Amino acid sequence: MAVMITDICINCAACIDECPVEAIVDEDDNPTGEDTYYVYADKCVECVGYHDTPACAEACPTEGCIVWAECVEGMPCREDVPAEARAEHAPVIED
Ligand code: SF4
Ligand code: SF4
Repeated sequence: MAVMITDICINCAACIDECPVEAIVDEDDNPTGEDTYYVYADKCVECVGYHDTPACAEACPTEGCIVWAECVEGMPCREDVPAEARAEHAPVIED
């Protein structure tokens, strides 16, 4: 994983165009069948090299919707994120 969109997503589309690597798809293209937006973990670079924080989470109006998940082998991974935050799926943006 990388970052993950949770089931409180309201399908507002604010995140999708913010992603620099087109890792996000809408509910129609969600491969899990869930009726929410979805992040392809094998495409997400956690915005490393693009932004200081994940742009999708910055844009998301739904508090706690986008959370940290485990790093994907071979993909960029933010080293400043505590392992516990990834294990517990802590929100990327804490209010
Ligand atoms: S963290 Fe960055 S690269 Fe990953 S899905 Fe969000 S906007 Fe895209
Ligand atoms: S910005 Fe947040 S609530 Fe809106 S579609 Fe993306 S993840 Fe869902």
